[in-house]
Amino acid sequence: MTNEKPRVRFAPSPTGYLHVGGARTALFNLLFARNTGGTFLLRIEDTDVERNRPELVQGILDDLKWLGIHWDEGPYFQSERLDLYREAAQRLLVAGSAYPCFCAPSQYAGPEAREESEETEEEAAPMARQSCPCRHLSMADRESKIREGLPYAIRFHVPEEGSTSFQDEVFGQREVANSEIEDFVLLRSTGLPTYQLSVVVDDIAMGITHVVRGADHLSNTPKQVLLYRALGAKPPIFGHVPLILGPDRTRLSKRHGATSVGAYAEEGFLPEAFRNFLVLLGWSPGDDTELLDSDEMVRRFSLPSVSRTNAVFDRAKLEWFNVQYLQKLPIERLLPYVEKALRDAGIWREEWNGSERAWLARTVDLLRPRTRLLGDFATWARAFFTDDFDYDEAARAKFWKDERLPGMLEKLVTALEAAPEWDHDNCEKALRDLAAAEGVKAGLLINATRVAIVGRAVAPPLFETMVVLGRERVLRRIRQALPAIATQ
Ligand code: GLU
Repeated sequence: MTNEKPRVRFAPSPTGYLHVGGARTALFNLLFARNTGGTFLLRIEDTDVERNRPELVQGILDDLKWLGIHWDEGPYFQSERLDLYREAAQRLLVAGSAYPCFCAPSQYAGPEAREESEETEEEAAPMARQSCPCRHLSMADRESKIREGLPYAIRFHVPEEGSTSFQDEVFGQREVANSEIEDFVLLRSTGLPTYQLSVVVDDIAMGITHVVRGADHLSNTPKQVLLYRALGAKPPIFGHVPLILGPDRTRLSKRHGATSVGAYAEEGFLPEAFRNFLVLLGWSPGDDTELLDSDEMVRRFSLPSVSRTNAVFDRAKLEWFNVQYLQKLPIERLLPYVEKALRDAGIWREEWNGSERAWLARTVDLLRPRTRLLGDFATWARAFFTDDFDYDEAARAKFWKDERLPGMLEKLVTALEAAPEWDHDNCEKALRDLAAAEGVKAGLLINATRVAIVGRAVAPPLFETMVVLGRERVLRRIRQALPAIATQ
């Protein structure tokens, strides 16, 4: 054993947005690196010209950063390293660990097509070996075909006998008979590497010590181990993390709703909450602790404590985490997120970053126990930030119907104008004294006033709301609501 520090990587293919499963894999890599004092690399696996969408790379990087997943090295791009893969394939060819395959890819769809798929299910039955006819060509035939200029791919020559085993920190020792592994393609006739080749060449070149990735790659691992050996390198330690399923126990997909991290960011989830939710998809700290901040995650994370059992994506649980973090985050950390929500809604005011910062903090603090998503600050809580808001139909029908209200609310305005100080107790006294004098329940006035000043029936306690809105705005809003109340 050497004392080398671990080096791990997250290696997304930009064929789609960063999805929940990828983000969880990235997070586990990050936590493992931080826990062990290792290094975390980011590598973009963009050699599949047909499926690759370069325009998605920036979004993947942004979503990782949003989640607080910061890498120490990279991003490296495989598309800039093609010579390395070609050179390795040639080396294997010369050494006899690989052979040229002259079959047209369409003629020979079997293993190649399967091997290309990174989606192979972990549970899939071992495939029958299907060896390429080119494996049996004589040296002379190979050379003459190459001289003729026939295009060829390079295939790995899997040994007939024996088995290939590897150590997996999550799944334990694994072993596969070589007779079950087909001669997989390393380099296509176009000169582009397959995933199997580029991933191994890079993991060797980048000194990767631990490969932590989705369990959908378990079935690729024996091939990769064969490649490591053929290239004269020691295989890394593997850690395959369980798949994420939807509530119906099938693999999480768009059928189950949003799967991209960006969609959750846009919907108003806090990255802190999303990260906490993600870390528990397939890992547990070993007790019932659910709320874990980053330091705690780093301290407690280990590969052997990752579960082999597939995780289930439970949206209700994600929402629960968001509510927890909306309430618990230090206010100064919450405010930038609220700022973004208010900016997106076009109701942000610059003074909230300056002279009115304390007011903003107090208002957000008052609202946050009732919020579930960041967008709530700009939707139901809109009236706290702008005069441009509507009265909720159901709330006005329910709380403005008493005919005595316009008269009483006019008196309330007068009483509030006369309050010696604009604070909770004075506002409350003004309203309760008036209710007593009029012989009505305070609730009648409280509910009607709430709808008048914030447009909704459900909002923080009235007198605290009045304080943060300020005397001038409260009086103006009650007066403005009077005609609508009178005609209700
Ligand atoms: N590009 C592969 C993927 O996105 C990486 C697999 C691996 O980590 O080896 O699934």
